[in-house]
This record gives sequence, structure tokens and C-alpha cells, in this order.
Amino acid sequence: MKTILITNDDGIHSPGIAALKETLAPLGQVITVAPDRDNSAISHALTMHRPLRLVHLAEDTYCLDGTPTDCVAISLAKILVRLPDLLVSGINSGPNIGDDISYSGTVSAAIEGTMYSVPSLAVSLAGEPPFSYQGAAGIIRELAVRTMAYGLPANTLMNINIPGDTQIKGLRVTRQGRRIWKQAVQEITDPHGRAHYWIGGGTPLLDAGLDTDVHAVGNGFVSVTPIHLDATNHEGISYFKDDLGLESIALPHVL
Ligand code: MN
Repeated sequence: MKTILITNDDGIHSPGIAALKETLAPLGQVITVAPDRDNSAISHALTMHRPLRLVHLAEDTYCLDGTPTDCVAISLAKILVRLPDLLVSGINSGPNIGDDISYSGTVSAAIEGTMYSVPSLAVSLAGEPPFSYQGAAGIIRELAVRTMAYGLPANTLMNINIPGDTQIKGLRVTRQGRRIWKQAVQEITDPHGRAHYWIGGGTPLLDAGLDTDVHAVGNGFVSVTPIHLDATNHEGISYFKDDLGLESIALPHVL
């Protein structure tokens, strides 16, 4: 029997992880390990300065007072007896496209799985709530089956974004677009008249080129992007060496 580890960044009580568990149950033993509260936009944070408490809620279901990355790390080290056949992170409430990927706890859990060579999927719903988790179920199951059958390229995770509030037109394999949040800092005043700042909202600036994740979900298509862990700009290596001459600099204080 296949073993499937699921986690998320919206927390153990989110509807998305319940839907994910139900969706994947026919494919194997599903073990759920998720944060005890919403960890959205926590990126790839790892908790190193306090101990973590794991609570066994039910059979194969745990919550942790830590981050999505903590959940994956502790699952692989202490809960599972061997590496799972698949890791799925989600289903996130809201898209993880373009620059969202840098902030996303959902995608970071899949990055952590990929670092341990576990085939890993990140799944998010795009559009506005209320979302149709049922509509996403068949797509997620199909992508999970194919990933377990064929594997993924080395050091690569599958980032899946599914239109959650509209009729789905098809599936596109995409590249990461750009989605930069402008005016995303709101100023509010507390009862004592002091200014405070609340990050959120705003309007995204888009690179929504035809081959991007941003374009696909914006036009009713499921977006599936291969995300590589190697963030090196390989063309930048020769630029740094040759144009900037960095390896020829006479460094001060080199012994
Ligand atoms: Mn989230």
C-alpha cells in the first residue's frame, strides 16, 4: 500500500486539508500532519528556538504547534517509518502563482519534501471563496496517481493551481509568472491614536504571459508548474565571472 503524507499552511482545521484527505484516501494510507493554526505566508520557516509539541488527534492525524516545514521534517524523522511515496501540501485557500511562491507555506512544505527526494505536490485553489473543493478532487487524484507512477524530475516539485470558483476549461503546463503586490501595506490607528501597519490586500502587478501560471488560472485553466529547487540563474554565472570580473578582484584581507 502507498503511503501519502499530507500537510498545509492553513492549519489542521481548514476545509482544504479535510478535502485533500478525502480525495487521496482511495490511493493509499494518508497520514495528516498539519500546523495547529493558520501559517499562511510563513514561507520555509523552520522553528529552531523552542521545542515543538505534536498532538495525536486521531488515527494517522496529528497537529503541531509549528510551521508547515516543521510538520514535514518531524513527519519524516519521527512519525513515518520510511519515506512516503508522495507528499501533498494543500489544498490552499487562494492561489500560489508568480511571486506568491516565495511567501507560500504551502509550496514550502512541498519544497521540504523535495529536499528529501519525496515526490511532492503543492495544491492551491485560485479565485474567490467559497471554493469548490469537490471540483478539484478528481484533478488532484489524477495528478497524484501519475506522480506516484512515473515520479518527478530530480529536485523538482509540482505546483498545482486550480480555478476554484469557475468552470474549468482544461490544464496547462506553465512557467512561474510574476505577481507583485503593490500598496499592500494598510495603515490603521489604534484606540490610543497610534499608527499601525497591516500587510495585506492591494493590487497585484502581473506578468501574465501566455505560458504563465498567472495567465492559466486567470483564464479558467488548471496550472501545473515544475518548480526547481536550484534557484541559480545559470546565465548569471558567466556575467558575474566575466562582465563583473568577480573572481579577479584583489580581495582585501585575504590571507
Ligand atoms: Mn494558506
